[in-house]
Amino acid sequence: MFSDIPVTDLTRLTLTEAREGLKAKQFSATELAKAHIAAVEQARALNAYVLETPEHALKQAAASDEKLAKGDAGPLEGLPLGIKDLFATKGVRTTACSRILGNFVPPYESTVSSQLWRDGAVMLGKLNNDEFAMGSSNESSAFGPVVNPWRRAQSSAKLVPGGSSGGSAAAVAAHLCLAATATDTGGSIRQPAAFTGTVGIKPTYGRCSRWGIIAYASSLDQAGPIGKTVRDCAVMLRSMAGHDPKDTTCVDRPVPDYEASVGRSVKGMRIGIPKEYRLEGLNAEIDALWQQGIDWLKAAGAEIVEISLPHAKYALPAYYIVAPAEASSNLARYDGVRYGLREQGRDIVEMYEKTRAAGFGAEVRRRIMIGTYVLSSGYYDAYYLRAQKVRTLLKRDFEQVYDQGIDAVLTPATPSSAFGIGEQGSSDPVEMYLNDVFTVTVNMAGLPGISVPAGLDSQGLPLGLQLIGRPFDEETLFSLGQVIEEAAGRFPVGERWWA
Ligand code: GLN
Repeated sequence: MFSDIPVTDLTRLTLTEAREGLKAKQFSATELAKAHIAAVEQARALNAYVLETPEHALKQAAASDEKLAKGDAGPLEGLPLGIKDLFATKGVRTTACSRILGNFVPPYESTVSSQLWRDGAVMLGKLNNDEFAMGSSNESSAFGPVVNPWRRAQSSAKLVPGGSSGGSAAAVAAHLCLAATATDTGGSIRQPAAFTGTVGIKPTYGRCSRWGIIAYASSLDQAGPIGKTVRDCAVMLRSMAGHDPKDTTCVDRPVPDYEASVGRSVKGMRIGIPKEYRLEGLNAEIDALWQQGIDWLKAAGAEIVEISLPHAKYALPAYYIVAPAEASSNLARYDGVRYGLREQGRDIVEMYEKTRAAGFGAEVRRRIMIGTYVLSSGYYDAYYLRAQKVRTLLKRDFEQVYDQGIDAVLTPATPSSAFGIGEQGSSDPVEMYLNDVFTVTVNMAGLPGISVPAGLDSQGLPLGLQLIGRPFDEETLFSLGQVIEEAAGRFPVGERWWA
């Protein structure tokens, strides 16, 4: 079925189509890698990759070709991926897109990426992200902003791809890899997926190991894939997930064959629609799309139930206390002694100060200051402790909903479509934080959430719907996500204007 595809168009395949094509020997892993390497070289204007590793890719692809020939291919054999620069890759520069890590080359591999290589995947390079994954637009990277491959109709204005996994989302949307790793602390997988017409799933907290992923807010951070389709994400997650004794929060439960849940009937499932998500002033197009999603799921046999998440409105302010608090403590390790950058000082204290002032960007410094403040004695009870209590209440909101027999919750993924580079947050950081209003709840409650592209707005930009599941029930999200994907169709970027 692929014999008519010119090699340059191999990048247009989905991950699972490419898997089948390799198995059927319609092309080789080396050809597939070369097609992607060429696409990456032509797309530097998007700034999605901060490091290209073509030699590494070709070496892995050659090894995959041997395995494919011998018939002992792994589940991801020969499939080229991009890796968010937050994942430590052994012998390959890893910076979290911060100056403070300089040219840090880890002597170890993150568990998640090691599982991808175990299963035969090929690494094309490291993907851009907001510095230390703090942001919703990928504008805070030390390597500069990522450009969304999507543009508004009749406009050449550069748009953000969302953040913090903006490089991952842009690379998948622009066919610069078949799928990518990403991380989500407050929305960083789902929001960029929604802004680029791609699919992204944040699994349940504890589903994937955090070992070797540069920490932002450890009680919220979770790895997951961004892919072109729901099925592709299911295949990726199966390889990424699993128990790891090196992360004590990583849960020892068998990893299901997620792909088997794609296409499974959703008949009789009960879908909750939280009334608190009907924000005053919610964008009318997004509201209409949400209704459209409801209709699609109904048509597939699901039952729609209005539900209440009474504490949802406190999720965003509580998140912006908990996340910076944990960040301020996680980022204390960057002291000019152990990693990357060092600025000289008269004594050790001045060396610390100068290194941290020069190494961290403005948003990271802001988070460290907020975090240190809310944890300081006298303010701890008023801010941090209260935010933790809100977190418990949020968790309870969802528990009550799931106890009523609700299988999943449907909401919009973002309050808007992609915005312009430089358009938000320069005078007021809260404007940027508000992008996360629909996604942070899920992290605070430790639940799985998927974003699936569901339509285009009047400017021609993609919009996503979010499905939130029960703990460790990613399978239901894949089944429901597939229903939306089938009804809405897929959303490939129209024009390769960057090449
Ligand atoms: N935008 C949110 C933040 O800046 C979430 C980022 C993320 O999920 N890594 O904290």
